[in-house]
Amino acid sequence: SPVREARVRLVFFGAAGVGKTALIRRFLQDAFEARHRRTVEELHLLELEAGPELRLRLEILDTSGSYSFPAMRRLCIGRGDAFALVYSVHEPDSFAEVQRLRDEIVEARRGAAPIVLVGNKSDLEPGRPDPRLAAAAAQRDWGCACLETSAKQGRNVVGLFQELLRQANLPGRLS
Ligand code: GDP
Repeated sequence: SPVREARVRLVFFGAAGVGKTALIRRFLQDAFEARHRRTVEELHLLELEAGPELRLRLEILDTSGSYSFPAMRRLCIGRGDAFALVYSVHEPDSFAEVQRLRDEIVEARRGAAPIVLVGNKSDLEPGRPDPRLAAAAAQRDWGCACLETSAKQGRNVVGLFQELLRQANLPGRLS
C-alpha cells in the first residue's frame, strides 16, 4: 500500500527567555544549553517515519523575538496547525504574554484554537505569585491542554510534542 503523508506545522509562542528554543532543542537533539542565544525566528523541518506506512513532515517554528512585528505574528498564527503557548513557572510576568497571544489566536481563527499551554522550567522554584494558578484558571476557561515541562531536565518534552500532534488533528491531515 502507498505511504501516506501528513504535514504538520507547530508554532512556539511565548515571552523571550521562557525556553522555547530550549524545548525545541531538547526535542530535536536531546540537548540543553545554559547560554541564552537570541533567536529572531527559526524554522526546523524534519521527516519522521511515524508508522510503517506513515511519513510525518514536521515543521517547528520558533518565533522568539518576532513580537515587535505584528504582521509576522499574524502570519505564524494563520499558518500554524497547533500552538505551544509557553510561559515559565519561575517567572510570573511571562504569563501575560500567553494571555495576549491566546486572545490573538482565537480572534484570528474565529474560535477553534489548537493550543497547548506550557509551563516550562518546572525544575526551578515557582515564582510569586505562582503563575501556575493563572494557568489552571486559563485551562478551565479556555478548555485547552495544559502541562509542565523542563527543557533542562528533559521532563515531559516528548509529552508536549505528542499533545501538540493530538491538537493538530493528525488523522485529519493524512493525504
Ligand atoms: P526563548 O527565548 O523562549 O527561546 O528561551 P531560551 O530557550 O533561549 O531559554 C532562555 C534561558 O532559559 C536560557 O538561559 C535557557 O538555558 C534557560 N532555560 C530554558 N529552559 C529551561 C528549563 O526548563 N529550566 C531551566 N532551569 N532553565 C531553562
